[in-house]
Amino acid sequence: MSEIKVLKKMKIDEALNANVWDVDHRPHIIVDYEKCRKLCDKKVCTLLCPAGCYTLTGGEILFSYEGCVECGTCRIVCPHEAVTWNYPLSGRGVQYRFG
Ligand code: SF4
Ligand code: SF4
Repeated sequence: MSEIKVLKKMKIDEALNANVWDVDHRPHIIVDYEKCRKLCDKKVCTLLCPAGCYTLTGGEILFSYEGCVECGTCRIVCPHEAVTWNYPLSGRGVQYRFG
């Protein structure tokens, strides 16, 4: 069975869980929590990150890089430029198993 046929039968959570990571020594996303706290009311990152890396805990944003698929969405949608985003060092980061 080809990988495409396998993907059609997988749920999105299953496909994300199939990814593997080779993390480098520096964080590739840094969040300016002061901006989140003082400037941001909608907190769209919690709605649009496909991997659920941004969560609200007691009204405060909590970012966790685990599961990040390096799509760059958070950098684009953040209205306050609170996200500093860089690709992981060459050859590191997420490796997709199912597209
Ligand atoms: S959208 Fe940007 S400023 Fe707002 S909570 Fe998310 S990272 Fe922080
Ligand atoms: S790059 Fe994509 S997956 Fe990673 S934290 Fe940002 S929105 Fe989420």
